[in-house]
Amino acid sequence: MSVIGRGLSKRFAKAARPAIHSVDFNAPSGSITTLLGPSGSGKTTVLRIVAGLEIADAGNVSIVGEDVTAVPPERRGVGMVFQSYALFKHMNVADNIAFGLSVRKEPKDAIKARVNELLELVQLDGLGDRWPSQLSGGQRQRVALARALAIRPRVLLLDEPFGALDARVRIELRDFLRRLHDETHLTTLMVTHDQDEALELSHHVVVMNEGRVEQAGAPHDIYDHPATPFVAAFVGGANVLRGHVTDGRAEVGSFSVDLPTGATEGAAATAFVRPHDVKIAPVPDEGTAARSVTNDAPEVALAKIERLVRVGGMVKVTLKLPSDESMTVEMPKSEIDALSLSEGDRVMVDLRQAKVFVEDYAI
Ligand code: ADP
Ligand code: MG
Repeated sequence: MSVIGRGLSKRFAKAARPAIHSVDFNAPSGSITTLLGPSGSGKTTVLRIVAGLEIADAGNVSIVGEDVTAVPPERRGVGMVFQSYALFKHMNVADNIAFGLSVRKEPKDAIKARVNELLELVQLDGLGDRWPSQLSGGQRQRVALARALAIRPRVLLLDEPFGALDARVRIELRDFLRRLHDETHLTTLMVTHDQDEALELSHHVVVMNEGRVEQAGAPHDIYDHPATPFVAAFVGGANVLRGHVTDGRAEVGSFSVDLPTGATEGAAATAFVRPHDVKIAPVPDEGTAARSVTNDAPEVALAKIERLVRVGGMVKVTLKLPSDESMTVEMPKSEIDALSLSEGDRVMVDLRQAKVFVEDYAI
């Protein structure tokens, strides 16, 4: 039941540059694959090409091994859910869900049974008579899901399905979708710009930027081993420190990061540091600290705590580095309390992990 796209390109009429360019992806059977990228990166275009709602200039799409590039949308066996609910306002919930089946002129009894089964699946039992306007946003999206599933699609396509919902409902629906998938194991291709959503919900992530695929892999792979500076910055909300290779090390702002041999002297270096990959500790005494910073541990710098913001169990610390750059650090509240740190304190900053790219090549 896998969905595979190969060499997909599309330039819309009068557009200066292609919306997507040579996009390859593989959404394996029975799993959730997510196209993740900022707005305008071409995610919807790819999804619409898979659905057959848009024709690619080049490339092909196959579903369950069948090349569907020339197959019309209604014969591709895909169910689709959009960000905006797109329910028929003049039809009640049951008729909305039944729509695809009624179009296919399936027997009335069979339709009724299937609708009831779906209402139960999306936990809306007994609400078949309601109008869409009488439902909450989360409920409407579940109706949209039921409607997409009614035709027993081979593949489920979701375009920012939680986009129009508030934060709490988004998370509820995310959990719901995961459980639904555990039950149905339907091959799913989803689009989102929200990295948390992509990392938590999917088995495979395809990161897109400016119409191209930057990296594809398992969520932890993308997170732990970003292949390009774009992925490092986009996934994980990293601090970005810029500098150059000097004496074989990356001199980035207030830090000096070890590099393997062979880095070109003077090349531009960019370090990406995640907020929770930074350790801070009180300065024991200025003299010792300064010596240890310059001599023994160049990946350590002295900084000042500019702001401490408590968000639930976590604390967001904004540091001012000697190079005048700011850096965001996140740590559990208990850790900050144990160190009894507060705004204005001077601290030693230790980069536990930095991902360095030297002129676009990952080290
Ligand atoms: P995303 O879903 O990642 O936000 P889209 O696939 O919607 O990105 O858009 C990719 C690019 O293609 C954007 O620059 C967008 O403006 C352009 N685009 C999308 N649809 C059309 C269209 N129907 N006509 C012209 N340009 C379009
Ligand atoms: Mg889109």
